[in-house]
Amino acid sequence: MQEEFVHPAEVEILLFYPCPRCGRKVPAIAPKEVSQIKCDECGQVFLIAPVDEKGICYLKTALVHGLALVREGYN
Ligand SMILES: [Zn+2]
Repeated sequence: MQEEFVHPAEVEILLFYPCPRCGRKVPAIAPKEVSQIKCDECGQVFLIAPVDEKGICYLKTALVHGLALVREGYN
């Protein structure tokens, strides 16, 4: 019997911002506004530059909202 796999319905872009205090690369899902994040290593809070929404929209479209990344044979 063939297994059924659920396919992705959306994709997000995870960006990594280096902490100004300790250098740890802190992940943030592409922020649309200027925002603050907290380093989970040293606790430093810092401002991160927002993304260009057009660029994110382009990537999501190009990746067919994640479907284009599904390995061959699982689609
Ligand atoms: Zn830090």
